[in-house]
Amino acid sequence: MKKTPMRMCVACRQMQPKNSLVRVVRGTDDKIIIDRTGKANGRGAYLCPKLDCLNKAVKIRALERALEKSISPEVIELLKEEFMNEPKAE
Ligand SMILES: [Zn+2]
Repeated sequence: MKKTPMRMCVACRQMQPKNSLVRVVRGTDDKIIIDRTGKANGRGAYLCPKLDCLNKAVKIRALERALEKSISPEVIELLKEEFMNEPKAE
């Protein structure tokens, strides 16, 4: 039987199966990316794919702390789009 690895969402701090979370990675080139494969190198932080958690993470700077890097508004926008899974209105 394969065990699903558990990871903690940086916003709500609940443990979830790794594959149901969104991984945000500070890559080796210091860029913040959304890691859809779960295999990107670098320091990672996990978030539930919910706007609630994203908003909370932004508010308490959870991603900044986890990744030790400031998160630009562009990255937040990308995450929002990712979580809403629909194109931006503009
Ligand atoms: Zn969460």
